[in-house]
Amino acid sequence: MKRLISSIIAVAMTAGCFSACSVNNVAAKTHDNIEIVTTIFPEYDWVMNVLGNNPANADVTLLLDSGVDLHSFQPTAGDILKVSTCDLFVYVGGESDGWVDDVLKEATNKDMIVINLLDVLGDSVKEEEVVEGMEAEHDHDHEHEDHDEDHDHDEDHDHDEEHEHHHGDVEYDEHVWLSLRNASVLVSSISDAIRKIDAGNAELYKANTESYIEKLKALDDEYKTVVENASFKTLLFGDRFPFRYMTDDYGLDYYAAFVGCSAESEASFETITFLSKKMDELSLPAIITIEGKDHRIAETIVENTETKDQVILTLDSMQSTTMDDIKNGKTYISVMESNLAVLKEALK
Ligand SMILES: [Zn+2]
Repeated sequence: MKRLISSIIAVAMTAGCFSACSVNNVAAKTHDNIEIVTTIFPEYDWVMNVLGNNPANADVTLLLDSGVDLHSFQPTAGDILKVSTCDLFVYVGGESDGWVDDVLKEATNKDMIVINLLDVLGDSVKEEEVVEGMEAEHDHDHEHEDHDEDHDHDEDHDHDEEHEHHHGDVEYDEHVWLSLRNASVLVSSISDAIRKIDAGNAELYKANTESYIEKLKALDDEYKTVVENASFKTLLFGDRFPFRYMTDDYGLDYYAAFVGCSAESEASFETITFLSKKMDELSLPAIITIEGKDHRIAETIVENTETKDQVILTLDSMQSTTMDDIKNGKTYISVMESNLAVLKEALK
């Protein structure tokens, strides 16, 4: 991987230099506009909100724009080149972004600002947690791992070999964008970077940021109110569980078939039975799934309850949002508003 990245960048730089640059500014930018590269949809949408009417005509790229989630994403040569030459790169920084370190080491724009969401959030980043009833990973040593707090992303190790399918390790929950409170912190950090890169329009970006963060805070208040007035305080996911940051923000209890975005897709008899019984015991009116077509596990759980009449509701974790969705008006806030409506129905 590493050698591949070096040669992609070397070839691109050589090609570029035939036309424009001289020997001593090889490290210079190869573009005129400000170039911003983001990995996931929420980052992209936050950047667009800070830019507002985009006075500098910044070029913003969303790498994961086709519905492939961050856990399965593999960058193309073009993606790698874009990242290595951009002015601002925003990525999540968890296990799924193992490809990023090598690309950044070879980056040709030495003035690039890099925002790693997990680094920005620091101590608020949570470890994945296995709760009762959850389908544990096959090696079952999740809870007994030595909790090595080494969270240093700069460390020089080869992610290709070390991190592939290492289910026994402590894994940080990467789905940090599903907390509106995290979103405020992350938007501020993105805004600081953009104001540094384009100081001329800093005042405008600052005003955009402030009004956007106000909207995030207002929505956070609405969530709080909904949860406070709800009869139920538990969400049961007949699915994967990327929503821990959201449930924790509002003190909701949760059960789920799988931890985080576990690659496993089959739930055991024990898991199904446990969750069906839990639905009965708590008289929950709804079972939650995440976006995607396959809701068989949730259906099976409902079939195994006493009343078999719970509704299946879907929360959107924004892991398969496409450029078409964005063109059709989907925004981070619009998704979080729809999720609030779902929450309201699930908690009554
Ligand atoms: Zn995920």
